[in-house]
This record gives sequence, C-alpha cells and structure tokens, in this order.
Amino acid sequence: MKKRIAILGSTGSIGKQTIEVISKNADLFEVEVLTANNNESLLIEQAKITKPNAVVIANENLYQTVCDALLDDDIKVYAGEKAIEEIVEMESIDTVVTAMVGFSGLAATINAIRKGKRIALANKETLVVAGNIITKLAIENNAEIIPVDSEHSAIFQCLTGENNNPIEKIMLTASGGPFRTISKEQLKTVTVKEALNHPNWSMGNKITIDSASMMNKGLEVIEAKWLFGLTPDQIEVVIHPQSIVHSLVQFTDGSIKAQLGLPDMRLPIQYALGFPKRLNTNFPRFSFSDFSKLTFEQPNTDKFKCLALAYNAMNKGGNVPCIMNAANEVAVELFLNGQIQFPQIAEIIEMTMESIEFIKEPKLEDYFSTNLATRNFLNERLNKNK
Ligand code: MG
Repeated sequence: MKKRIAILGSTGSIGKQTIEVISKNADLFEVEVLTANNNESLLIEQAKITKPNAVVIANENLYQTVCDALLDDDIKVYAGEKAIEEIVEMESIDTVVTAMVGFSGLAATINAIRKGKRIALANKETLVVAGNIITKLAIENNAEIIPVDSEHSAIFQCLTGENNNPIEKIMLTASGGPFRTISKEQLKTVTVKEALNHPNWSMGNKITIDSASMMNKGLEVIEAKWLFGLTPDQIEVVIHPQSIVHSLVQFTDGSIKAQLGLPDMRLPIQYALGFPKRLNTNFPRFSFSDFSKLTFEQPNTDKFKCLALAYNAMNKGGNVPCIMNAANEVAVELFLNGQIQFPQIAEIIEMTMESIEFIKEPKLEDYFSTNLATRNFLNERLNKNK
C-alpha cells in the first residue's frame, strides 16, 4: 500500500521539494491533498502532475480559477482557510506534511494530530506557539511527529535506536547566516537583498530573514524543547558555517552523536516520509576533499539579539513564545517591505514581549487570542508612529 500524503503549503520551498521526493519514490508514496495560499498557477500545475484527490486554495478569490483549470482532471477543489483545517481529517490521508509558514499552520496541524495522522513537521512555529498542547495531543492520539527541520531531523536520527537513553544536552548547529562576520554597527545598514542571500540553504523569504537575524535558531531551540522533552539549559546553539554537521546529542555517559551530510532539505523530508526506513538517493555526496575544515564558534547574542529573546521567551513560558512569534512575523514582513531597518526586528519583538498580557497556562483559545492581540497591538503602535 502506498502512503498517501497531504502537503500543506505545496507551493513553498519545502512543499516543492516534498513533491520531488514523492515523485522519485512513486512506488512508496502518492499525493492525496495539496494546499496553497495564493500561488494558484503553481498549485494547478502541481495538481495536473501529481493527480491528488483534492486541492485547497486558501485565497477564496482564486477558487474559480483553480476549479476551471482542473475541470477535466477529476480533482476536488476547495477554498478558504477553514477548508485547509478540515481537509487534513480526510480518512485517506496517512501523513500530513506541514509546510506552511507561521502561526497559520496551527489549527490544521492540531486537527491532523487529533485524527492520529503522522505529522512530518516543517512548520516549526506551531510547536513554538503551542508546544505543550501539541505534544500532549500527539501522545493522546498516537500521532507520530517526525521533524523535517534539518537540525531536529538530525537529533531525531541520533536518538533512533537509543531506547530512551537519557539526553544530557543537545547542540543545535547554526550557519550564522549572511551577517555572521559583520559588526553590530554594520547590521543597521544591511539591505533586504543582502538578508535574503543565505550562504548555504535556499529557502522561503520568511525563514531566510529569520536565519539572518538568528530568530530561526531561537525558534528551533523552543521547537527542540518540545520535540525532545528538554529543559532550556539542555539546549545549546553552536555556529557551524559549513552546515555539514546538522546537530548533535550528548548522552549522560558523555558520548556525543552527530548527523552529517550536505545541506539538502530533500533528505530530512524523505527521512520523515520513509521513517523508520532509509530510502536510496542519488543526491550529491559529502566529500572531505571539498571541506578541508569544519569549524565551530559561539553565537554572539549581543549582535543577534533575537536568539537571546527566544531563550527569554522559552524561560518565561506560557504565552510568551506565542507573543514573540507573532511579533516576529509582523516585524519580518515590515523589514521585507522596506519599512524598518534590520536591527528593529529585535527591538519590535522585545518591546512587544513586554507589552502583551502574560498568561501562565494558556489553553488553545488563549494562543489564538494572544496571536491576534499581538498583531493588533503592533498595528496600532506602528500606525501611530507613522
Ligand atoms: Mg533548521
């Protein structure tokens, strides 16, 4: 029986690479559902090639266009964010790849977990925001969460076969992004184009800016806390500019395991779909002759304030990571639109974290209201300053 896959966010970077992995392993996997936000032309093209049972376009204005284009293809077409939240419950879906960007992935991920689907988790923000609820629901509903984030896939692979041997600490590697070697002063004048120019990974805009500010690593620290049941002091970040060591686990005997490979997101995607099996690939192989040196250094949290803010948010807990995430989503968009300077991303997040009401033990609805309150607060504040 082929595994039937739903890809939420199929037109993004992870979505496209997931389709590639599925088509290369057509004897094992087939596309059951595709969803996209606004890119109707790519969604249509993908649907015509992969022949899913259904597609959803979040932007309802594009519904008719998608319907007309897929009229002769026997593919069901739905529209709207609610439809994405509901379609993951389809009986025929085995695995849901959550590859949409930001908070918007939360409701659909939760519905898929409630139906016991395997989650190939690429949407780290959902765990950052509501990790306590998601991990609890996953256990209650016997839903496996397999990380797609390369660092977390590395940790997951290191832990496979360890029979719950206790972890002393983990070390998440970070490339350091495009601004690793410039001064704090120089950060003030970096352009959007420079921030989008990541040295090792080709990714979507939001995550590429997060990588440049190191908020991406901050989000990943919180993601790791929930995925692997760790305390904040068990999670370290180490800068590794070559992005070959994808992360490391140190066990209580002092022994360290690491997972290595060339930076290629198709690998963790494929591992999550095929787990526990490793599937053959003809991807380029690592060679020591191409990398004479693998280097490691401490992150500079004075320059990359977002990383420090994420540790603060994790330590405070409650709805603070949710506030931080929403403020970051707003700030990144402002930066991408050329409305703020790069260091203001961290300033906006810090100011917002101090301004929104703290909830110590949030319920699911509190996360939705915190997300909304944070965005409203920032809209009001930023309009006033115009
Ligand atoms: Mg990552």
